[in-house]
Amino acid sequence: MNEPIRITRAATKKRKPKDSELTFGTVFTDHMFVMDFQEEKGWYDPRIEPYGPLSLDPACAVLHYAQAVFDGLKAFHGTDGKVRLFRPQQHLARMNGSARRMCIPPLDPELALRSLVELVGLERDWVPSTVGTSLYVRPTIIASEPFLGVRPAKAYIYYVILSPVGAYYPEGMNPVKILVVDKYVRAVEGGVGAAKTAGNYAASLYAAEEAKHAGFTQVLWLDGRERKYLDEVGTMNIMLKIAGEIVTPPLTQGTILPGVTRDSALTLMREWGLRVAERQVSIDEVAAAAHGGTLEEVWGTGTAAVISPVGELAYKGERIVINDGRIGALTQRLYDAIVGIQYATAPDTHGWTVEV
Ligand SMILES: *Cc1c(COP(=O)(O)O)cnc(C)c1O
Repeated sequence: MNEPIRITRAATKKRKPKDSELTFGTVFTDHMFVMDFQEEKGWYDPRIEPYGPLSLDPACAVLHYAQAVFDGLKAFHGTDGKVRLFRPQQHLARMNGSARRMCIPPLDPELALRSLVELVGLERDWVPSTVGTSLYVRPTIIASEPFLGVRPAKAYIYYVILSPVGAYYPEGMNPVKILVVDKYVRAVEGGVGAAKTAGNYAASLYAAEEAKHAGFTQVLWLDGRERKYLDEVGTMNIMLKIAGEIVTPPLTQGTILPGVTRDSALTLMREWGLRVAERQVSIDEVAAAAHGGTLEEVWGTGTAAVISPVGELAYKGERIVINDGRIGALTQRLYDAIVGIQYATAPDTHGWTVEV
């Protein structure tokens, strides 16, 4: 689909924050990408326009029944001066997968990739250049039809917004304390846990707030049926190194988000010749490994932090301390390897980056 993307430039430019002032998700660039869908026309009128509020009918479906999907990826300013998106095709394919689950019409993959490349290209001055900083890219689809019946909407808006974000670890990586929750669940088999859909995040807030009040950074979710097997940690996938083997929950249950960082980490570790198993792992196995001295490392993977070391898990009043609360060697190696590819200090042998 070679449909031209119409561009309307912003009349005034915003002040760009200094790299050191950047946080997460508070500042947005001058332009956004927008495209509409109507049942009779399909997706139409792809355009870049000044960043600003959307006009929505108060009856529109997304505001009532949360028919919405999104994704999150990043553009990096390489040390060679070039701007690159990290694995945009994988993120867009995942968004189309989420869309299908929510009865939202998928996007043409080629046009979707162009929406990211052209928008980031137009806003390239907004990509911060200090290593660790990046331009966060948020493609989103919402149901815009004004109708209060419960059925898939007949009109949608796809839009992409961009936000320069600061280094996730301005003072270096620090292992986090995680609360293992068995009172609430994030997903169940047959549910929507594998989709990046709005309602999943609303549903996760209560448990995360309870954990924060109890002094923890995030929650570790267990499976919805037995409350026994590890699912995810906050909005990250979880990986563990137990007695030399790397273990991560499988995608086959349909309850965890198929993380792009998860896939990148698994690919690298298999290339490094490490033993990797995608299998269910119970919290009892984790506790037993900790007691037996074979729980070597635990970390989360996700676009925001890349790799997030876990220093402590609290479960039923017990504290499981991992690697004396320090970052493990493999955790650090994975972080360095992925960040190296993102900032082009290491060769991209997998074709993961797309130059803008
Ligand atoms: C986005 C997300 C992840 C991480 O996916 P990445 O593609 O690595 O960023 C993991 N779990 C949940 C629940 C998420 O929303």
